[in-house]
Amino acid sequence: MNLISKEVMHVGEMASGAALTVPVYRIKGKQQGPDVYIQANMHGAEVQGNAVIFQLLEQLKTIELNGSITLVPYANPVGCNHKNGEYTLGRFDPITGVNWNRMYHFDESIIEPFAKAHLTDSIVEIERAFKALMVEQISQKLNHNIYGITTGQRIAYQLQRLAHQADLVLDLHTGPISSKHLYCPDYARASAEYFDIPHVLFIPNGFDGALDEATFCPWWYLQLKFAELGRDFPITKTATNQGKDAVIKESFTVELGSQEQIDLDVAHEDALGILSYLQYQGVINSNDFHPKTMVRYSCMLEDYKALYSPMGGMVDYLAEFGQPLAAGEPLARILRMDNYGDGDPLHYISLEDDVIPILHFASASVNQGTELYKVFSKYSIL
Ligand SMILES: [Zn+2]
Repeated sequence: MNLISKEVMHVGEMASGAALTVPVYRIKGKQQGPDVYIQANMHGAEVQGNAVIFQLLEQLKTIELNGSITLVPYANPVGCNHKNGEYTLGRFDPITGVNWNRMYHFDESIIEPFAKAHLTDSIVEIERAFKALMVEQISQKLNHNIYGITTGQRIAYQLQRLAHQADLVLDLHTGPISSKHLYCPDYARASAEYFDIPHVLFIPNGFDGALDEATFCPWWYLQLKFAELGRDFPITKTATNQGKDAVIKESFTVELGSQEQIDLDVAHEDALGILSYLQYQGVINSNDFHPKTMVRYSCMLEDYKALYSPMGGMVDYLAEFGQPLAAGEPLARILRMDNYGDGDPLHYISLEDDVIPILHFASASVNQGTELYKVFSKYSIL
C-alpha cells in the first residue's frame, strides 16, 4: 500500500476573506524515478479530469512506484464554482476576460545566459540548476512583486511552481462537446502512442501562456540553444537513449471528451491510458498497462482548423467525431425558421477538404461567426 499525503494549498482570497484553496495529493515511491505532476479542472466546466484523478489514486494505492506523483483536482476554485443558471462557465476570468489557461509564466530571456554559463556542466547539474532557476522565477513573481499579480496569475503560478518540480506534466481538460484528443510537443511524438487517445495534435515550440507550453518550452528552448552552442541535450526518451543520459521533460494537455459531465467508468479507462504512459516512462514498476490497439490520427497544430458559422441559426450537428469525413459531406445543417415559407429554412455546411471533426460548439443556437467545429485537416495516421 502506498501512502497518499494530502495538503491544502491556498491560492487566493475572496472579497469576504474566504480562502481559495486546492487539494494537493502526493504519492512517493521507494525508488528514484521521474516526478509527475497531474492537474485537472483549470477550466471550470471541464470536470472529467477530477474523476480521472480519483481513479488514478485508487489504482496507485497498490502499484509499486518510482519517483513521485503529485495530483491536483479542482485546480481552479474560481472557475470551478463559476455558474450561471444551470451551466458552468469558468473558461475566462470573469473580471479580466482572460482565458484561465493563458496566465502561466515563461521568460525566454533566461535561456541564453543560462546555456552559456552551464555549457560544460553534467546533465544532472544542468537539470538541477535550470529547474531551480525556473522555480525561483515563479517564487519571485509570487512573493516579491510590488505591483502585485492578478487573481488568475496567483492561481496559475502556484500550480506552475508544482509543475516545474516535475519531469512529466499532464494538464487534464475537455473540449465543449468533443472526442478525446491529446496536445503533444512535437519532440515527444514517440510518447503519444502510449495514451489511449486516438487524436493527437503535434505542437511547435511556441509559448502562448498554457501550462503544457510553460513546462516544455523552457526545456525545448534550452535544448535548441545548447545545440546552437554545439552541445547535445536530449529531453525526450528515444530508441537510442532509452531515457539514459537524457533529461526527460514532457508535458501534455489531455482533452478527455466533453465538458459538464463526469463518467467514472470512462474515467477508469482514461486512468489506464495514463498509467500505460507512466509505465513507459518508468514511473511505475509494472507490466500490466499497455496502450490499446487503435488507429491514431495526428495533425500539426497549424492544420487544426476552426470552422466559424457562416450564418446565425439553430444547428443540427451531423458529423461523427473522430472519423474521417470526405470533402463535400455535410458537417451540420442549420435551421432558419424565419425563412420558412418564403425562403430556404435549411442550410447544409460542408468543407472542400477531407477532415476529421474533433469537437463542436456546446449549444445548438449560434450567431454568425460562432466557432462551430474544430477539425483535423491534413491529418495522417500515427
Ligand atoms: Zn480546457
